[in-house]
Amino acid sequence: MKNVTVIGAGTMGNGIAHTFAQSGFKVSLVDRSQESIDRGLGIIAKNLDRMIAKERITEADKEATLNNITSFTDLKEGVSKADLVVEAATENLGLKLQIFGDLDQFAPADCILSTNTSSISITQIAAATQRPDKVIGMHFMNPVPIMKLVEIIRGYSTSNEVTTTIMELSKQLGKTPTEVNDYPGFVANRILMPMINEAIETLFNGVAGVEEIDTVMKLGMAHPMGPLQLADFIGLDVCLSILNVMHDGFKNPKYAPCPLLVNMVMAGKKGVKSGEGFYDYSASRKAEVVSKSFQ
Ligand code: NAD
Repeated sequence: MKNVTVIGAGTMGNGIAHTFAQSGFKVSLVDRSQESIDRGLGIIAKNLDRMIAKERITEADKEATLNNITSFTDLKEGVSKADLVVEAATENLGLKLQIFGDLDQFAPADCILSTNTSSISITQIAAATQRPDKVIGMHFMNPVPIMKLVEIIRGYSTSNEVTTTIMELSKQLGKTPTEVNDYPGFVANRILMPMINEAIETLFNGVAGVEEIDTVMKLGMAHPMGPLQLADFIGLDVCLSILNVMHDGFKNPKYAPCPLLVNMVMAGKKGVKSGEGFYDYSASRKAEVVSKSFQ
């Protein structure tokens, strides 16, 4: 496997392109606008500079990595030689079904089609193609060049051969692949999101304030970041949409999103990306607590 096409040059797409290119793969980076591609390539260059500053790579490694990436705004052109596609476009079911229909049409017949979706069913995405045995989830974690885990999600029809190939390929990237089956939230979010939701409920019920809840989990459970701050980093809208997928998928009230989370997203408070969530990120880089308690 040599040629990898990454669809989407956003937060995850540029990290995935960076990781494959640094491991010597030829990467075609596809986004719908040149502006998004330029932003993604700029972030990759900046992240490589950080690695040089930490003496983890050399200037020559940076050049080699950037030289391994070619960009395209046309999907058909970008996938024409792909051995593997990793789709990391916006989390939207309709968009992903459209992209996978196109990938099935334009990618070589033996190309494996993977998706980095956080919550959409791999089986449903696979059904948009004529090759469901070759569709699989490759759920990288943010920031991709640093985080070791790749959650490998087998759809209902994913073949053993494709799963083995993707597990081995992930190891070549220096990652630790972990195989899971395709049910709502997979494993990572099925465990993480109820914890985040419970932290929000705890705040909503007035049991403790933002900082207190995060401190208990950081110092008491040795979590590097408290659940409320982590939710801000993930994006409160993303947390809400994943909880909704699990709530719809299992029809179990334990996954029902806390009304405070729903309200905050409706109010446009989406966390770091909007400048405010449980903490305020607008004035300085140091997060300030917005509210001690919502009771
Ligand atoms: P993002 O908004 O940062 O980037 C999405 C990119 O997709 C944008 O650059 C957008 O222009 C591009 N795009 C949209 N439609 C396209 C199309 N038709 N063709 C090509 N490009 C298109 O989003 P993100 O955070 O990078 O998330 C991408 C995927 O990764 C989602 O499925 C998300 O659920 C998943 N994911 C995100 C995280 C995270 O922490 N952000 C973690 C794991 C998985």
